[in-house]
Amino acid sequence: MIRVTDQHLNTLKAEAGAAFPLECCGLLAGTVDGKVISVTRTVPSPNVSTHSGRDHFEVDAKVRFDLMRDLDESKLEQIVGHYHSHPNHSGEPSPTDLDMAFEPEMIWLIIPLQSKAKVDDIGAFRLDRELRTIESIDLEIISGPAGE
Ligand SMILES: [Zn+2]
Repeated sequence: MIRVTDQHLNTLKAEAGAAFPLECCGLLAGTVDGKVISVTRTVPSPNVSTHSGRDHFEVDAKVRFDLMRDLDESKLEQIVGHYHSHPNHSGEPSPTDLDMAFEPEMIWLIIPLQSKAKVDDIGAFRLDRELRTIESIDLEIISGPAGE
């Protein structure tokens, strides 16, 4: 299960709307307690995909590097996943997503939207490129701030 705050989700929806009709993307930092992953922050990234940006995304390596250096080790904060939007698509992972799933432990949040303002429910998944599996993950939304 992955736990996010309502403000995290509002932040992601706003980013997806601002990027529409292109894809937004970013990283998720969080803590892991047994089977519960709690997101501590969402970190936006430029979409550096060399494809059109309409159906591909790639997180900037510098954003990941900077976040790794900034993680709060006293809280065992780590990079737990990433997010991207699906402009004019469903919230299901795409075949391209599966092809790009090199890190099977990562959580994928997908933000589907049909227009700048019409964002559908966000889904959480684990994808495994080797096994060709897509696992749906329970998403728990709690009220709280976007940061810690
Ligand atoms: Zn996708």
